[in-house]
Amino acid sequence: MTHPTLTRSREIRLTSRPEGLPQASNFEVAAVDLAAPGEGQVQVKNLFMSVDPYMRGRMYDRPSYVPPFEIGKAMQGHAIGEVTASNSPAFKPGDLVNSMFGWREGFNAAAETLQKLDAQGLPPQAFLGVAGMPGLTAWAGLTKVAGVKEGETVFVSAAAGAVGQVVCQIAKLKGATVIGSAGGADKCAWLREVGVDHTIDYKAEPNLTAALARVAPKGIDVYFENVGGVHLEAALNAARPFARFALCGMIAAYNDHKPQPGPSNIVLAVGKRLRLQGFIVSDFMGQSGEFAAEMAGWIKAGKIKWRETVDEGIEAAPGAFLKLFAGENVGKMLVKLT
Ligand code: NDP
Repeated sequence: MTHPTLTRSREIRLTSRPEGLPQASNFEVAAVDLAAPGEGQVQVKNLFMSVDPYMRGRMYDRPSYVPPFEIGKAMQGHAIGEVTASNSPAFKPGDLVNSMFGWREGFNAAAETLQKLDAQGLPPQAFLGVAGMPGLTAWAGLTKVAGVKEGETVFVSAAAGAVGQVVCQIAKLKGATVIGSAGGADKCAWLREVGVDHTIDYKAEPNLTAALARVAPKGIDVYFENVGGVHLEAALNAARPFARFALCGMIAAYNDHKPQPGPSNIVLAVGKRLRLQGFIVSDFMGQSGEFAAEMAGWIKAGKIKWRETVDEGIEAAPGAFLKLFAGENVGKMLVKLT
């Protein structure tokens, strides 16, 4: 198989910082020339890139756990690519690599910034989803942060998304009763297909407190928080004494101009002695080997299934990113680079 070298690559740049929901006008497609890889460098053609909600945070110019994207420069994010040329003994053409050089068709980079990928028979893009960062987030948040136990009741928001779909299935594998909230009947049907015990279509049934009381009259022991806002309020209402909340993300607030007031019922955390703990997936990089082994076993045994939503072409990437905020993805949102 030949791996023709690249002489040009198109990339997506952030041209201005969005206010509220990002618009297509905040991005541009630009083309750059690619030389042959220099000493110690590797040239990579991206196959798939990831769009993730956390990238919205990088569009603000403010201190965070990841630095802001720079205006006028290509954005960054996880990508899986194939080596087209190598000036490093560590890589050869045809090798699959995992990198943070997403949002572009191809690139030259120092060998030490790339991770060689052994796809173990899985489609390589699975390493941007179930077997990659979102999978590790789900596993770490549920088993390490919330410490889910057999027999417990777990509530998951954005349950049909990249992280949520994995949380739900791991919770089932750990012997929990699972309640998943998602926007739309199709997403809820998919969740039931993978074993979720109760689904709540929060768009059809916006009173989440009533919905949770109906499906879990005895309350919830764990809340895996992906959304915030009314979901968090409903989870506080439904929490049993000593329930644990793994605060993974609050996507409903990511485009807010100014911070929303806190949940009106946060006082419940006192009397119910709740534990609310935020976490960042990178806290668990040291345990990624443990995750990879457990996840590989589940996938091989057919115990974990996943969906992905794939848009094609680098120019589709900003639109794919925006789909995350409109709920237009089922499972992991990806861009295939053609
Ligand atoms: P998803 O695949 O779940 O996509 C986002 C989903 O969020 C949408 O499909 C939509 O689903 C839902 N959503 C969007 N806007 C709203 C809203 N206003 N109200 C309610 N639901 C909304 O994304 P990920 O799985 O990649 O991420 C899920 C969460 O996990 C995010 O909050 C993200 O920031 C967080 N995260 C945190 C990490 C960490 O290290 N702490 C790492 C990775 C992700 P629906 O149609 O059901 O509304």
